Amino acid sequence: MKRVILIKYGELTTKKGNRNFFIHTLYQNIKNKLKKFDVTIYKDRSRMYIEFLDSDFHFIKEKLDCVFGIHMYHVAYIVDTNIDAIKDMVCQLVQDISFSTFKVETKRSDKSFPVHSQEMNRILGSIVLKNKDGVTVDVHHPELFIKVEVREGHSYIYFNEYHGCGGYPIGSQPKGMLMLSGGIDSPVAGYLAMKRGIPIDCVYFEAIPHTSLEARNKVVELSKKLAKYSDEIHLHVVNFTKIQEEIYKNCHPNYCITIMRRMMYRIMEKLANKYHGLVIINGESIGQVASQTLTSMSVINEVTSMPVIRPVACFDKLEIIDIAKKIDTYNISILPFEDCCTVFVPKHPVINPTLEQALKEESKFEYESLIQNAVDDVNTIVVKEEDSEFSDLL
Ligand code: ATP
Ligand code: MG
Repeated sequence: MKRVILIKYGELTTKKGNRNFFIHTLYQNIKNKLKKFDVTIYKDRSRMYIEFLDSDFHFIKEKLDCVFGIHMYHVAYIVDTNIDAIKDMVCQLVQDISFSTFKVETKRSDKSFPVHSQEMNRILGSIVLKNKDGVTVDVHHPELFIKVEVREGHSYIYFNEYHGCGGYPIGSQPKGMLMLSGGIDSPVAGYLAMKRGIPIDCVYFEAIPHTSLEARNKVVELSKKLAKYSDEIHLHVVNFTKIQEEIYKNCHPNYCITIMRRMMYRIMEKLANKYHGLVIINGESIGQVASQTLTSMSVINEVTSMPVIRPVACFDKLEIIDIAKKIDTYNISILPFEDCCTVFVPKHPVINPTLEQALKEESKFEYESLIQNAVDDVNTIVVKEEDSEFSDLL
C-alpha cells in the first residue's frame, strides 16, 4: 500500500493572485530541507505530496516541523478515486488498528465524483461496522478519525494529523537584518520574523576585550537554532569596541545607552544596504528597559529611515519566554556571559531622552569614520543548522 505525506498549506490559502509564488517558494524550501532523503515531491494548488521511504519518516518529520508555510500534514494512503477501491482500502486499513469508536469524515474536492460527502461517510461507516468486530460510531469523541479526501485521479485516506509551524514560507518576503544579542528576546524576534516569510541575516555587536568569546559563541549557538527554520544563516559580527569606548569617554553617562543604540542603528542601516536587507529587525519590547520607552525608541529610531520591525514589541516577558522555550533558545540565552549592552550599562540611563540632547552628546566625538570602519571590517560567520544525531547517521 502506497503512502505519501499530504501537506496542507493553511494561511497560504488566503492568497489569490500570487498564490503560485507562495506555493512554489514552499516547494523549494521543502525540497531543500529534504535534499538528503530519497523523496519525490509534487504539488497542486491546494496540496503538496511527498513520496518517501518509510524508514525515513521520523527524520523527515523533524525537518517538516520547522518549515514555515505548512499548516498541517498527514501520512496518507493513496487509492484511485473509485468508490469500490476506496471502500476496499478503508476496510483493509482498519483491520490493523485497534479502536472501539470511530467517525468517518469525507472531503469531496473532486465535484465530479458522484457520491456526496455525507453519503460517503455513511457508506464507509457501515463498511467499517460490518468488517470490524466490537466497534461503534461516535460522532462527538471518536477514538479514531477516518479521514478521506476524494480528489481528481487519486483519493487519500489517513488517520493521523501533524501540526506544522504555520506562517509563510521563508523567501516570500525580502531579507531582513536581525540584531541578535545573546538575550532572550532577539532570537524570538528572529523566529517570528522568519515565520512571516522573511529570510534573515543576523548582526551581533561585540566589544572585545570587554565582552568575551563565550558571549560570541552563545550568539553562534542561537543562530544555529534559528537556522533550523531556514537555510544557513549569515551572522555578521561587528567590532563595536572603539565606538563604545569613545561614547563612554565623551558622552554624559545617562545618554550613553541612547547614543550607543543610535550608533547600532546607523551601522545596521549600512549593513542592510551592504547585504541587501530591506528592514531592521530586533527584540525591543515596549517599556522593558530605559532604551525601550516610546520616547527612547523615537529618539533612537531617528537615525534611520529604514523600517524597524519589532516582533515582540507588545509581548510581555513571559510570553517571549514561552516562545524561547518552544524554539529551544531559552537555555542558551540564560547563560551568564555579558554582551556589550550589559557591560556598559550606566547607573541612571535616561528614560525620556530628547533628540536635541542626543545630537549634542554625539557631536562630542567623530563617529562617521568609526561607523564606516565597523561596517567595512565586519566578520561574517556562516552558520548551518545543527544536524540531529539521527541525520548524522544518514
Ligand atoms: P534580548 O532583548 O535579546 O533579550 P537584551 O535584553 O540583552 O537581549 P536589550 O538591551 O533589550 O537586549 O536590547 C534590545 C534589542 O537590541 C535586542 O533584542 C537586540 O535585538 C538588540 N541588541 C542589543 N544588544 C545587541 C548586541 N550586542 N548585538 C546585536 N543586537 C543587540
Ligand atoms: Mg530585551
